[in-house]
Amino acid sequence: MTQSDFENFEQNFAAASSAAESPQSQPQPVAATPEPEAQPEQPLQTSPLPSELHESTANATWSRMLQGNKRFAEGKAEHPWQDKETRHMLTDGQKPDAAVLSCSDSRVPPEIIFDQGLGDLFTVRTAGQMIDDAVIASLEYAVKKLHVSLLCVLGHGRCGALEVAEREFNELVRTVTAEAEESQDSIEAEDIMDDLDERIAQSDSIVLRQAGISVWQAREAELDCLDDIERVHVAHTIEALVDRSEVIQQALASEQLMIVGARYQLDTGRVEVLSF
Ligand SMILES: [Zn+2]
Repeated sequence: MTQSDFENFEQNFAAASSAAESPQSQPQPVAATPEPEAQPEQPLQTSPLPSELHESTANATWSRMLQGNKRFAEGKAEHPWQDKETRHMLTDGQKPDAAVLSCSDSRVPPEIIFDQGLGDLFTVRTAGQMIDDAVIASLEYAVKKLHVSLLCVLGHGRCGALEVAEREFNELVRTVTAEAEESQDSIEAEDIMDDLDERIAQSDSIVLRQAGISVWQAREAELDCLDDIERVHVAHTIEALVDRSEVIQQALASEQLMIVGARYQLDTGRVEVLSF
């Protein structure tokens, strides 16, 4: 990631975070409306796709998703766009407004907790919202081909994947500490502890490789509870996505994409908007 890429990320991410904190505010100029690709002929010429009935800015989309989450949490979900007519309208194409990268946890389905319908969200789900080439390629498809203006990285409370990552991180720290104590050379012992990030990166465990750094960063910031580790992991996931994807970097730089971080709370049903 170049310096300019990082500056672009920081600028856009700051704009995204501040916009997400005030979802009801006027849309910020961070999400330019891209030129739509030629759409296939619609089966019902007078009935646009559900997504096209909404404002297509990222802020409006995020605001609508948060409103849907409020309905869901209050037990007033409307289950929009899930009828037979909508299904027929969508047979020839999709134009979702947002992509969501979230955990595979059965308690956290994005369409339900945001009270959205068919055609609204392009979702990618893995345990602990961990990323690999397939995840990145899927999100790049949503950004480049489907022109989503919003990418939401969604963590959640009591995430089993993060619990595993924390446990494996603790085991690694115990191992590394024991190695350092066994070393007679104090400088070598110091190096062993300093190389913790490399030991995480070289681990055989995909969970530790993906989420261990999040646990480590949280610990470095003296954030010890799982809730905080989950928040740090969302931030780390966004940073890694931007770092690894030129498509996402370019979409942020050209103000065609906004990224927001959020965390779903199992107890309340509400989505907590994160700012970093
Ligand atoms: Zn989870």
